[in-house]
Amino acid sequence: MTFSLGSVDAAWCDRVADDAFAFLDGELAPSAAADVTIHLARCPRCRALVARDERSLARVRRAARLDEAPPPLRARVAALLAAWSAPLAERP
Ligand SMILES: [Zn+2]
Repeated sequence: MTFSLGSVDAAWCDRVADDAFAFLDGELAPSAAADVTIHLARCPRCRALVARDERSLARVRRAARLDEAPPPLRARVAALLAAWSAPLAERP
């Protein structure tokens, strides 16, 4: 799909809505991220949408913060992964 940079039309707004989380996560290609940035500068509706998604993402990240496994468990998992990645003949 070809868009004129930053134009404020329904197709662009739909694209920003679809790509908002990828944009916020830095997962868009640089040119696509630049297109979204330009569109956001011109479209208050999409700015509001992306700001809302950014707040949602921040809440999810805070809620999903994981505790670090204790060192003995981490060492056991690392040893198992090392054994698992070894050739079959070398496995215990
Ligand atoms: Zn828009």
